[in-house]
Amino acid sequence: MPLIDAHTHLDACGASNAEDVTAIVERAEAVGVVAVVTIADDLNSARWVTRAADWDPRVYAAVALHPTRADALTDAARAEIEELVAHPRVGAVGETGLDMYWPGRLDGWARPNVQREAFAWHIDLAKRAGKPLMIHNRNADHEVLDVLRAEGAPDTVIFHCFSSDSAMARECVAAGWLLSLSGTVSFRNARDLREAVPLIPMEQLLVETDAPFLTPHPYRGAANESYCLPYTVRALAELVNRRPEELAHTTTSNACRVYGLRTAQD
Ligand SMILES: [Zn+2]
Ligand SMILES: [Zn+2]
Repeated sequence: MPLIDAHTHLDACGASNAEDVTAIVERAEAVGVVAVVTIADDLNSARWVTRAADWDPRVYAAVALHPTRADALTDAARAEIEELVAHPRVGAVGETGLDMYWPGRLDGWARPNVQREAFAWHIDLAKRAGKPLMIHNRNADHEVLDVLRAEGAPDTVIFHCFSSDSAMARECVAAGWLLSLSGTVSFRNARDLREAVPLIPMEQLLVETDAPFLTPHPYRGAANESYCLPYTVRALAELVNRRPEELAHTTTSNACRVYGLRTAQD
């Protein structure tokens, strides 16, 4: 069953050159993960992911400054990100959004208006570039919806590592957005999320590792990599009462559609 890892960070997984990238995607392909989308979080990473996408045909990229880097979005950074987004193997503008996980932090990127302004800029960029917007939302359901409404959402919106509750899932589904699920669906204590997942239509689902973060059960706590994706798909299949093969098929064609990917299966 072919799978696509809709969101990973190959550089944070330890890859620096073409050889390292190939080693990770070989391990992934050995278990059926035929393509990966590697996401930038800062400017260096944005430069690197576009190179990684050129090194291996199984790798695609997304570029943006992560909300926790929002204070680095200078005019020069904006100009460079705009250039990198135009790369033909960049499938999305991301990850951008809001991260309000850090209580008590009110300086630099943690200032709500700094994150909000950076998020708004990336929304506009996605529209101008005609590419999907990939959202990082941590503890900010209402604020993210607020900014999307105020700015106007691009045609394609992906919530990466969707971890919110049923109410948020309903809002996103009704808006036609895609929800990308990670290893957190396999965590028994993620009760709100596990209740929300069955509400998502198959056509709006993606699967991701967010590696090296968020290792799925039964490897929770160990280092995550794209080859761990089948565990998440099995946990998800159990949760929505579908066959893993069916989920693999649908999420792969969803990923190809939204990111504009071509895989060996085409
Ligand atoms: Zn994220
Ligand atoms: Zn990420």
